[in-house]
Amino acid sequence: MELLDFAKTDTAARLRAAAKRGALSHALIFSGSGDRVSAARYAAAAMECTAESKPCLACPACRKVMQDIHPDVTFVRDAEHKELSIDTVRAMRADAFIRPNEGARKVYIFEDCTILTEKDQNVLLKLVEEGPAYAAFFFCAENPAVLLQTIRSRCVEVKLSPTVEEGGAPDERALELARLIAEGSRASRAAFLAKLETQKVTRDDLSSLFEGTRLLLSSALLGQYGVSVPERDLRIARSLASRLTKAKLLGTIDLLQDYRNKCTYNVGVGPTLGGFAVELEETL
Ligand SMILES: [Zn+2]
Repeated sequence: MELLDFAKTDTAARLRAAAKRGALSHALIFSGSGDRVSAARYAAAAMECTAESKPCLACPACRKVMQDIHPDVTFVRDAEHKELSIDTVRAMRADAFIRPNEGARKVYIFEDCTILTEKDQNVLLKLVEEGPAYAAFFFCAENPAVLLQTIRSRCVEVKLSPTVEEGGAPDERALELARLIAEGSRASRAAFLAKLETQKVTRDDLSSLFEGTRLLLSSALLGQYGVSVPERDLRIARSLASRLTKAKLLGTIDLLQDYRNKCTYNVGVGPTLGGFAVELEETL
């Protein structure tokens, strides 16, 4: 499972909704048998994202989180020991009190909580309770019972199931639109969008078309930065990346995001499609 697959799940939608309300907890436990680390990385991107709809997976902050090079997102590891040494935890605690380098938050991800000793956890508990407001702590544990009850009671648990059930392939229309952006002509794109209007698509259909296409373009963009692209999206991602510069990919991603947001208001399908068709050609 890849982060971009996780982005399509219901759990990801709930994280986005919480981030939008500014209600994403600073202490999260990612539990269950799904891809906990991708989920934690996604939530970290939501914390650092500079776009309105968090995480956009396209802004510089999101891209750095996805590439694991964001200076304010730390995977707490201890390669030299089987368990996380108390020195590592103390060093991490000291680091947490230094303000973020460039992001809004400092995020610490514990990708395997079975390596946390009781001593580690007691230090972490204090930090979760009394740490600086900008600090966030994401714990990944298949079974959250490996964490002390006192820590668990201060965290919000996000239960993950294997994504095959939740995620799924991008919708056919999104794939077609992405293909036309990569390989089609202006006339073929106009025809595709005009046809949608005659097919009486709903605002929800449009919203998932824009979002599905946006995710495919995000895949293409992130692929350019060395982030692995889901196997299924590889061909279209390569095609998009060869047709569009990074700047144009970004511009189109922003446009798709704008139009997806418009779909949450009571806009007409026809005018939305018409406006999108014009702006798309201006962007490409
Ligand atoms: Zn972003």
